[in-house]
Amino acid sequence: MSARRQLVLASNNPGKLREFSSLFANHDIELVPQSRFEVPEAAEPHLSFVENALAKARHAAQLTGLPALADDSGLCVYKLGGMPGVQSALYDQLFSGLPKDDQRNNARLLEKLADEADRRAHYVCVLVLVRSAEDPQPVIAEGEWHGEILFAPRGEGGFGYDPLFYVAQLGQSVAEIAAEMKNVLSHRAIAFGRLAARLQQGDML
Ligand code: IMP
Repeated sequence: MSARRQLVLASNNPGKLREFSSLFANHDIELVPQSRFEVPEAAEPHLSFVENALAKARHAAQLTGLPALADDSGLCVYKLGGMPGVQSALYDQLFSGLPKDDQRNNARLLEKLADEADRRAHYVCVLVLVRSAEDPQPVIAEGEWHGEILFAPRGEGGFGYDPLFYVAQLGQSVAEIAAEMKNVLSHRAIAFGRLAARLQQGDML
């Protein structure tokens, strides 16, 4: 019997870790968070999700010697020109200088959209898998989830902007739906499905 292949998850975000652990539950891959190898957060200086995800994946592969998977994701709000976008995790910090914090990000977003009737937004997730730090052909998969920004938070589940992200087809915010449902519908789930299809095409790891 062959040992399960190890894949380092290039993230220290507990919300992402939870979601990836259940997405990988039925796969023949052992997902190991980078914190187990004491890999520090990589810099994310780029303007696009894909560039940041690639930088994070290469960084984790470099420091562990293992294949690595990175997720760069965020919320793009139509009337804010796509912001907070790649700055989603640090949105409030751009204005306040305070440490990153989901509740402050949500309050900042509500303030920016205070008088705005058009509240369309979408989540984006870009996954990048590298087999090694120098991998010349990273596997890249992307997913989107469309919704609207509420006027006040609703629900306790999920993480990040989920209490403000309303999905009309469900009549609920993402923080109100079950984790199992988020793991079928979300930007991350869509990107994961596409990545898994690529991995099944051959011996990608
Ligand atoms: P990253 O770690 O630089 O990719 O930043 C991701 C940030 O985007 C998170 O900290 C959240 O603010 C936001 N985000 C990404 N995915 C989700 C999600 O599924 N729910 C809520 N917020 C999300």
